[in-house]
Amino acid sequence: MKNLNFKRTYLLGLTFVAVLQSCSKDTDSLEQQTEVAEAQELAISEAFENELYECGYVDGNWSSTAYLSSSIGTSSETNFMQTQNSKIAAVWGRPAVPLSFVKDNSNPNSTYNAISYGSGKIYYGEAIYNAAKAQGQIANVMILAHEFAHQLQFTYGYPSKNESTARAAELEADGMAGYYLRRPNGYNKTSFSQIATAYEFAASIGDNNTTSPGHHGRSYQRRSAVRLGFLLGAYDLNAASFDYNFFYYYNGVLNGSYKQEKSEYFNAELDKYIRSYAKELQKISNGEMSDEEYFNLD
Ligand SMILES: [Zn+2]
Repeated sequence: MKNLNFKRTYLLGLTFVAVLQSCSKDTDSLEQQTEVAEAQELAISEAFENELYECGYVDGNWSSTAYLSSSIGTSSETNFMQTQNSKIAAVWGRPAVPLSFVKDNSNPNSTYNAISYGSGKIYYGEAIYNAAKAQGQIANVMILAHEFAHQLQFTYGYPSKNESTARAAELEADGMAGYYLRRPNGYNKTSFSQIATAYEFAASIGDNNTTSPGHHGRSYQRRSAVRLGFLLGAYDLNAASFDYNFFYYYNGVLNGSYKQEKSEYFNAELDKYIRSYAKELQKISNGEMSDEEYFNLD
């Protein structure tokens, strides 16, 4: 998820400081500022120590009883997530942004969310963490890489493709996650089937409400986006090159035709490679590929 409005996110940040100082819970005014809060159900979670803030109202994107924490699960789990956070940024040649966790002991399910803020931070809910962990930690890596992709979008003004919903941004973020999972200096998974569970999890939180501003793309589109990102991960790309190539091929897959313009980021060898997967990508995004076939792709 991406908090799309930078100004608003910045204001939320200021409000957050004010609320921290007063320890009050003025939820009404904050809730009005909430932008892309996704409501979700899913069981889970317990309380933990080592909280970052004791009086922790987080912001309008989270419940009034939610609080920030510097830890998630065991200390090795926390280290794992923080290490991944640094690595993801490094793969894109960027400094990492602060990663904090959001917990809510009275309403644990309310933290089934992860948010990337335009002010340069990621808040990661305990409930979504636990749900993803049940799929294997790679699912958490995928979500984190997706959230960091939104940071790249904030920084560079991506996606270069504009749509009326958040779909292009969300699909690109999925693609960037797939790219990270493959890169040798990233999560280094060389076979697509190794990251299938992460994909499945992403698809399960996709939605089919195509007019909603928070639309993440249909699950088939998300599947093809992550697959394309994974394929692009055969090459060492910077963020600009990824953005260009992702939409160059993604549009081709969706429309059955390729954009004609070639930029400095066009790479003939990469082009040959991706085009050899064009039919397959089309099949995925059209929903014509079976789960079995998808999860066994190389
Ligand atoms: Zn997102």
